[in-house]
Amino acid sequence: MNWASCVAITSPTHWMIALQGTSARSASVFQSPTASSAIAVGNPARSADSRFYSPQKFNLLRAFLFEDPRATIPPVGYPIFDLSPSEDKESPKMYAQAMDELNDFFEIEWKLFRPRILIAPNRKILEEIREEETPDWVVGSTIGDRVVVLLSYEISKKGERTYIRSREDFYKLIKHELCHCFTSRVAGSIKPRWVAEGVSLYVADQIGRYPEPKKFLGFLDNNNIFQESGYVVDLLIKVHGKKKFLDFLHSLKNEKPPTAFKEVYELSLEYKTFDNLLSKVKKA
Ligand SMILES: [Zn+2]
Repeated sequence: MNWASCVAITSPTHWMIALQGTSARSASVFQSPTASSAIAVGNPARSADSRFYSPQKFNLLRAFLFEDPRATIPPVGYPIFDLSPSEDKESPKMYAQAMDELNDFFEIEWKLFRPRILIAPNRKILEEIREEETPDWVVGSTIGDRVVVLLSYEISKKGERTYIRSREDFYKLIKHELCHCFTSRVAGSIKPRWVAEGVSLYVADQIGRYPEPKKFLGFLDNNNIFQESGYVVDLLIKVHGKKKFLDFLHSLKNEKPPTAFKEVYELSLEYKTFDNLLSKVKKA
């Protein structure tokens, strides 16, 4: 078996299995019955293909997926799974750059068991992975704190309402989705949505996709998340600095959002607070 065979998962069913396997550390490996060189990952209990289970392949795949240092195989390079037949030489560079910049922003060193990027060659496969239909503008999503699923650049930019128009936009998409993995790692997985989207929009330099709000009206109630939360994070960092913002993220792991916010900023988590920050910045 060579590494190329690991990316040759062509059946959407196996794709779905592969993805479920990556989010559970107890992944197992199957040889696809339809493509002799293909490997899929999954939970034997959930798969009809459990007769293809092999502990040896599990070890290899664990090494491949999680960069497990205990596995006795050579390093595999960039953990990007490209399902399309085309050779994408840009994404590995983008991954490396985004990881460097995100480690820098979050002031951590995420070097092992890094997030994986799965590039779906078409929307059908993206939807199989997400297990739901997706509107035209959805070109990426994150599952847990380890797996990022993207629609390929070539397909993304063809969407009518997509914001992906250039490689630079695609880079921002990669960084945005990887940032969700970092936020989950730092702030825990049960964080408010505005925090997750806000920090991703901020870090990936995507705030300008939406006009600046004159007043904050929805993000705390899970409305206008994309329109408001990037500006919310921008304001917090502009006025109170990045260190405090990171403190806030870290404290979300143990505290409810209003408590964490109050402790770090000595302000209450309500719209008025952010309207005040906005007028403060406007006056300056
Ligand atoms: Zn997002």
